[in-house]
Amino acid sequence: MRVGLYPGSFDPVTLGHVDIVRRAAHLIDRLVIAIGAHHSKGPFFSDEERVTLAREALEPVAGELGIDLDVMVYDGLTVDTAKTVGATVVFRGLRDAGDFDYEMQMAGMNAALAPEIETVFLAASPGTRHIAASLVRQIAAMGGDVSTFVPEPVNLALARKLAP
Ligand code: ADP
Repeated sequence: MRVGLYPGSFDPVTLGHVDIVRRAAHLIDRLVIAIGAHHSKGPFFSDEERVTLAREALEPVAGELGIDLDVMVYDGLTVDTAKTVGATVVFRGLRDAGDFDYEMQMAGMNAALAPEIETVFLAASPGTRHIAASLVRQIAAMGGDVSTFVPEPVNLALARKLAP
């Protein structure tokens, strides 16, 4: 069984993340969504909320595509988490040159730390390439409609959290 790890902040999960999951599903049998705890970064949604939203958004996709899906929170090194869950592949999405520079450096460091784990980059799809969780949060906070950027459970959770 081939296991992949998809690490990130997922604050919150967007349709960009869903697109990466859909495409990663063709390459593995089991996908572990690893949500970074980020104690210092102060996420908008709590660890528990991000896990719940990722499950609600991604479990139906995994079911449809016939892969196993797990969602977990992690602390520490991504490569250590990959080893713990038995993943041999780490998936990351690439949207633009900013992602590329950062991700190449990260992949290089991770390869030095754990050469047996391969980082696989999936190029963002044209329809979702513009979506960034940080912009989704900003637009929602200013009362904008984010329903075309996020799965429905996330849209509802944003509305609930930002309700006066
Ligand atoms: P991080 O803080 O690790 O960047 P994110 O949740 O923002 O966490 O992103 C997780 C991964 O998903 C990253 O590899 C990022 O490039 C990718 N990603 C985010 N949004 C998109 C998108 N719209 N299309 C493709 N990949 C994306």
